[in-house]
Amino acid sequence: MQLGSIDTIVAEIAEETRTHTHRGKVADYIPPLACVPDSKFGIAVVLHDGSVHTAGDAEEPFSIQSISKVFALTLALGAVGDQLWRRVGREPSGTAFNSIVQLETEHGIPRNPFINAGAIVVCDVLLGRLQPREAIGQMLRFVRTVAGDETIAIDEAVARAEQDTGFRNMALANYMRAFGNVHAPVELVLGTYFHFCALSMSCRQLALAGRYLMDDGRADGHSVISARRARRINALMMSCGHYDNSGDFAYRIGLPGKSGVGGGILAVAPGIASIAVWSPGLNPSGNSHLGQLALERLVHRTGWSVFEPRGG
Ligand code: GLN
Repeated sequence: MQLGSIDTIVAEIAEETRTHTHRGKVADYIPPLACVPDSKFGIAVVLHDGSVHTAGDAEEPFSIQSISKVFALTLALGAVGDQLWRRVGREPSGTAFNSIVQLETEHGIPRNPFINAGAIVVCDVLLGRLQPREAIGQMLRFVRTVAGDETIAIDEAVARAEQDTGFRNMALANYMRAFGNVHAPVELVLGTYFHFCALSMSCRQLALAGRYLMDDGRADGHSVISARRARRINALMMSCGHYDNSGDFAYRIGLPGKSGVGGGILAVAPGIASIAVWSPGLNPSGNSHLGQLALERLVHRTGWSVFEPRGG
């Protein structure tokens, strides 16, 4: 593919999605998210050479929600390494992002770090060494560093709204505490979790933040994590990044990806590109409807699926 043509491709994808009438349903269980117009669409592609290619509302910050679970996992692996896997699994759940059903038969061990229960345990692991304020500060420093952008912030109104309405997350955390898999006080663990979800980032910032996953653990030439760890996080994004829709995402797009109910998706073409898309309307599994469609088109036109033979 001609690299120059990536600008044309992202512009065409943004134009195609603009006219779509079936746009999915904007999340309304977190009140501030319900106010975001479903007409928004942004796309940003950061190539391996560092160039950034954007179209649509790519500069507008949105609530990254569960995409933060990738960054939280990165921090927790940095803190405790493979010991993390004693407390959270690495298998797709096949259930909704906020489901509680498996926790009873599986003794409070969540299936993977990318469902809510798993990310709550990941936050608890971070609180084994840090106060909530420190863990939130560490997260903010991390995303600012990997994105190379000091303006990234947490939307306190979103964090507060989740605190006020997050009854399911409270149930999950309390249930796992009863099994001994949450150690810190539940309100502190959830306060940390909600602040991570409330990170506000644009497609450009998110795609830049994903560079370390694209480039074997490096961002801007600096090592963030080991190559092996970056590959393993990508593997989990491929198998578990879209909840009970993960198989379909792998089938259609063929890239590691992580979604959030704010309508964002971070996708990684290893060695080639870090991609962020945003469209707030969701499919029934809570993943961006047009975001997935846009990624499907991008991969179709560029041949970036990890299953596409690279030749030699
Ligand atoms: N903050 C949201 C929640 O806990 C995150 C869910 C998501 O993005 N899938 O419900």
